[in-house]
Amino acid sequence: MRALAIGLAGLAMSLAAYGAEAAGPKWALVVHGGAGVIDRKDLSPEQEAAYREGMAAAAETGAAVLKAGGSALDAAEAAVRVLEEDPLFNAGRGAVFTADGRNELDSAIMDGATMKAGAVARVTTTRHPISAARAVMEKSPHVMLSAEGADAFAKEAGLEQVDPSWFFTERRWRSLERELSRQGLPTPARPAGAPTAPDARVSLAHDEGKLGTVGVVALDAQGHVAAATSTGGVTAKRWGRIGDSPIIGAGTYASDASCAVSATGTGEYFIRLTVARDICALVELKGLSLQAAADEVVQKKLVAIGGDGGVIAVAPGGRMAWSFNTSGMYRARIAEGQPLTIGIYKDEP
Ligand code: ASP
Repeated sequence: MRALAIGLAGLAMSLAAYGAEAAGPKWALVVHGGAGVIDRKDLSPEQEAAYREGMAAAAETGAAVLKAGGSALDAAEAAVRVLEEDPLFNAGRGAVFTADGRNELDSAIMDGATMKAGAVARVTTTRHPISAARAVMEKSPHVMLSAEGADAFAKEAGLEQVDPSWFFTERRWRSLERELSRQGLPTPARPAGAPTAPDARVSLAHDEGKLGTVGVVALDAQGHVAAATSTGGVTAKRWGRIGDSPIIGAGTYASDASCAVSATGTGEYFIRLTVARDICALVELKGLSLQAAADEVVQKKLVAIGGDGGVIAVAPGGRMAWSFNTSGMYRARIAEGQPLTIGIYKDEP
């Protein structure tokens, strides 16, 4: 009898301990600032510090929303807006150029609680494409709008419009010139209104290859997840090319039934594998852990077809994951009771 009582007490204790562990943090947020060729030897200490600062600023902005009891959707949008303002990242100001010298921005947001989603592709005058994507979700009957129509819609929704030269940075212009000459294509005229002197922060930028993109996934204290992604796409894109970022299920996906994912990498591969949805499907239908699902898609399926890039993910319950098959990915994560962790290179936790 006594042995049974002790046994039951022990069981209750281990259940309590398991319960505490299984509960996980109430809120969590993961950020990426793009994956690519990012090696320690290529970044000066000042450059590295600038990128870490950028990741921290975005993560802390999103965390402040979640700490105050705000929604995952609000946190993800707020954090992406910070990165759209930061010229170091390929989203908003600092976006890469098309072959004809324009900045055409793509963005998407998805709410895991309602499965509602919004996206814009090829916007050129809306200062915050992520807010345009959210407006599409909340204020239109559609999921995806493109080009002039998307900018006109954003303007009608009251979102700030800017001259396209707002997005211009010298560093991205130089990348365009290099890429066009590599492809044997002519360099277009410098856009009207482009600033002539690079600003101090832009001079800290590192050329991570053709990639970039920013994204945030969040879990709020109400148990809902959301995902948001914003990008200028790939350098020297042509013919109105649209990548995976604004495509729901490819570069962006969120469902309270499984997880929220934001991707970065060569979009064509991510579209073909519906990467974000595939990761969530592995969690939902096959019962894989979030990390195992992310690794399965990024390290195996993408690699098998030659796709380069990475993802961040969060699940209800507070699990967080990232996975990338490039040499680096700018990334950060923070959660209730857990410190801010920032990484750039592969060998960081
Ligand atoms: N995924 C983006 C695209 O293909 C690019 C990137 O992540 O850098 O448009």
